[in-house]
Amino acid sequence: MENYDVIIIGAGPIGLACGIEAKKAGLNYVIIEKGCLVNSIYHYPLNMTFFSTSDRLEIGGVPFVSHLAKPNRVEALEYYRRVCTSWDLKVKLYEEVKSINLNNSLHYISTTKGSYTARAVIISLGFYDLPYLLNIPGEELPKVLHYYSEPHPYFAQKIVVVGAANSAVDVALETYRKGADVTMVIREDSIRESVKYWVKPDIENRIKEGSIKAYFNSQLTRITDSTVELKTPEGNIILENDFVLAMTGYQPPFDFMKACGIKFQADEFQTPVYNEHTMETNVPNLYLAGVVCGGLKTNKWFIENSRIHAEMIIKHLKA
Ligand SMILES: Cc1cc2nc3c(=O)[nH]c(=O)nc-3n(C[C@H](O)[C@H](O)[C@H](O)COP(=O)(O)OP(=O)(O)OC[C@H]3O[C@@H](n4cnc5c(N)ncnc54)[C@H](O)[C@@H]3O)c2cc1C
Repeated sequence: MENYDVIIIGAGPIGLACGIEAKKAGLNYVIIEKGCLVNSIYHYPLNMTFFSTSDRLEIGGVPFVSHLAKPNRVEALEYYRRVCTSWDLKVKLYEEVKSINLNNSLHYISTTKGSYTARAVIISLGFYDLPYLLNIPGEELPKVLHYYSEPHPYFAQKIVVVGAANSAVDVALETYRKGADVTMVIREDSIRESVKYWVKPDIENRIKEGSIKAYFNSQLTRITDSTVELKTPEGNIILENDFVLAMTGYQPPFDFMKACGIKFQADEFQTPVYNEHTMETNVPNLYLAGVVCGGLKTNKWFIENSRIHAEMIIKHLKA
């Protein structure tokens, strides 16, 4: 069994930032990641552009120079690889953490490849692994996707995009511009207010002119190989359909956190219990960092504003 001062779970930008701070503080640490380096970003849409400028995504003082002010996915992957090598971070990839148990002031970590002990553990697991399901018949069909990569497969296809937030809007616009026949199915009565201000008029105008069809106050009720069924204010409708892109959002790994002994507030977002000054949870020496801290409010913490968690945690650990 390997023993560490601190084990960081998840090699997203915030997990890497924690590794850098641990290294700076002279702690014996390791980062354990179930996929590739910055696995979530790797799975983002191929043509995505960050809404943050590159300087706001920097960690560990490594300059992030991008072609335009706002970097794209490929530049971010390149950047975080460079951060990892510049700091010579200790990262174990393709190793999933299955459980964390506290016993006599020591955390016991069990993974798909081994067992470890650590004085402290930082959970920086992100929120990109568990999509909200539609829970309707036909969702299991291969034509129903909860992750979107690129528009090409949807050329000349009838697609339904479910959702009205940033991801759904980006997917609808990109696939429409690459030759897909796009229909949006939206539970609410409008496009979300939180959609990027430079994108919102574009989608609203495409809907207004009819280039992208949209059913508001509507929900999918059934999916078959060649159709989708919707419930709309005007009644039930059946549409011919080739693909359903369910851009309905993702949720943090609540079951994993609960199994670690973390408690949750009784608020609508199921915010985990942690000290806002130290990031320590109700479990001693078990910390949270990054997007997981927001519970269901997955847009509360992002790279820009949660980089600071790393410094806060390691400062507390050292003290
Ligand atoms: C399309 C899109 C665009 C975005 N643009 C921006 C932007 O412009 N600016 C910004 O600040 N934020 C942006 N965000 C949000 C930002 O990407 C996330 O907030 C950020 O990735 C959070 O970093 P993190 O390290 O907390 O989590 P993540 O990056 O999600 O990292 C978590 C890591 O934990 C790993 N993991 C999960 N479970 C386990 C396990 N059991 N064992 C081991 N490893 C595990 C995952 O594989 C993953 O690599 C965007 C998000 C999306 C979806």
